[in-house]
Amino acid sequence: MAEAEWHRAYIGLGSNQQHPREQVIQALDALDRLPLTRLAGASRLYASAPVGPQDQPDFVNAVAELATRLSPLALLDQLQALEQRHGRRRLRHWGPRTLDLDLLLYDEAVIESPRLRVPHPEMAHRGFVLLPLAELAPTLRLPDGRCIAPLAEAMGSDDLRPLLP
Ligand code: ATP
Ligand code: CA
Ligand code: CA
Repeated sequence: MAEAEWHRAYIGLGSNQQHPREQVIQALDALDRLPLTRLAGASRLYASAPVGPQDQPDFVNAVAELATRLSPLALLDQLQALEQRHGRRRLRHWGPRTLDLDLLLYDEAVIESPRLRVPHPEMAHRGFVLLPLAELAPTLRLPDGRCIAPLAEAMGSDDLRPLLP
């Protein structure tokens, strides 16, 4: 469903299968081509150790900023369709994947529905989300008022390294 207004959404991207760097670069381009949506910015790419099962390759992560007229659920539909187009198969929880697209923030919205929780419930605990997000939008705040930059700083960057362009 399309809405009249433009909204700002932040997307966490991750891949650790089938040329992760290319998956993420192509996904950024594909986000720019989603209906009623344009890519307003992107962080650098980072390599990170996997969450959960450790017997899988490191991830490539990035965060994208979108300007969109899609509703949160319509945007989630588009993100999940894009994951499918990148050949994502559901194997095991937190297992390897060609592309993961998490809706981190949508304006100041707080959403608690079965399919969609915004802000993404784990984002404030994850360096691979907070550090790229703080790089992209240092003055950004969570809907509860917390500033992203100090959250990212508190995280440290031990398990995260920027990839060379
Ligand atoms: P995590 O959410 O801890 O990062 P994950 O990304 O591996 O884990 P998925 O298997 O990609 O989890 O998604 C499981 C479900 O989460 C999806 O089917 C989707 O409906 C739901 N979901 C809830 N909130 C969000 C959100 N903010 N962004 C993306 N998916 C979400
Ligand atoms: Ca995820
Ligand atoms: Ca996900």
